[in-house]
Amino acid sequence: MEKLIYLDNAATTAVRPEVFEAMKPFFMENYGNPNSVYTFAQKSKTAVDEAREAIASLIGAKANEIYFTGGGSESDNWALKQCAEAFAAKGKHIITTKIEHHAILHTCEYLEKHGYEVTYLDVDEDGLISLSALEKAIRPDTILISIMFANNEIGTIEPVREIGEIANKHGVLFHTDAVQAFGHEPIQVDELHIDMLSASAHKFHGPKGVGFFYMRNSVKLGALIHGGAQERSRRAGTSNVPGIVGMAKAAQLAVAGMEENNKKMRQVRDHLIARVLDEIPYARLNGHREKRLANNANFCFRYIEGESLLIMLDQKGICGSSGSACTSGSLDPSHVLLAIGLPHEIAHGSLRLTLSEETTMQDVDYVVDCLKTIVERLRSMSPLYEDFVKSQRAE
Ligand SMILES: *Cc1c(COP(=O)(O)O)cnc(C)c1O
Repeated sequence: MEKLIYLDNAATTAVRPEVFEAMKPFFMENYGNPNSVYTFAQKSKTAVDEAREAIASLIGAKANEIYFTGGGSESDNWALKQCAEAFAAKGKHIITTKIEHHAILHTCEYLEKHGYEVTYLDVDEDGLISLSALEKAIRPDTILISIMFANNEIGTIEPVREIGEIANKHGVLFHTDAVQAFGHEPIQVDELHIDMLSASAHKFHGPKGVGFFYMRNSVKLGALIHGGAQERSRRAGTSNVPGIVGMAKAAQLAVAGMEENNKKMRQVRDHLIARVLDEIPYARLNGHREKRLANNANFCFRYIEGESLLIMLDQKGICGSSGSACTSGSLDPSHVLLAIGLPHEIAHGSLRLTLSEETTMQDVDYVVDCLKTIVERLRSMSPLYEDFVKSQRAE
């Protein structure tokens, strides 16, 4: 069996051994419900309290501004739906971007069906929003600006501080989907003027199905999940104690190792990008060259179907992603690649490779070697590519 080369860390990550160890006691030993009164349950309660404090301190927030949720999608839903509900009397206008995760975009579509109006900001060819366009989009009835910290497909990091300043200046709340950024980029909510933030443990080597929602104390949104009094009566349901403990451990490790890991990943990633662009003809790097997540590489290969590429890479033990929605049965290319201005036929031939700190130079060399052969083979079967090459020669 060949070695598995996992380059899909934007989809999910492996739980770190230290994280797993931290979680273990909360399954079979300290399984008490943190809301119970007896001493046995205190261990669970203390663990959840400590996790909340740990996460709060990592982003410069107060412990009572952190709400544990079931992940990034839930936190995003909370921000949008509860903001919409809470401020309906003030206005029904929300500003977001065309390149958000579906957890934001589909929630916006839902709100549009319920009488809200959403402005989807354009992005430039690198995936960056325009600050002047943002400022122009703000109206008296704007109740929320929701713009992602970093894009999950092309890795572009948005000018969050400037966005926060604009939102603040106009008295509009600012939510950021930081699911790709938390644990990967430094985040201080006050410095960046962030009012609400979504994060998810499984994107930073924590467990799946647990995340957090940061909500500034001055922002008093209602509950998304109604029921018990957990999470200050704002998110009902018995706390996922092992998940929360694991997330806090993963968060601490991610933030502590961020600089070093990013430096290492950037080197390996840049080597990957350089080799792909040098050695594979008609390859394109998507996303901003510098303002991008340290572990993200996203390419388009002309005259290639992203799907076929993934299947052939899989046969070599390589896990990547097409960044297109093909896998979910739709033939539409990625909304992000279309938003940065790529035509359909080019957007179809995309490949996203996202590294972890474990990814080595040898790993990416093997991937590029395989990729070269596969791209060549797929193109050799394409009459369109043959014509294209002839036309290029004729020029
Ligand atoms: C993964 C992801 C989500 C969804 O997070 P889940 O925890 O899987 O629900 C939301 N936004 C972005 C940017 C993501 O990358």
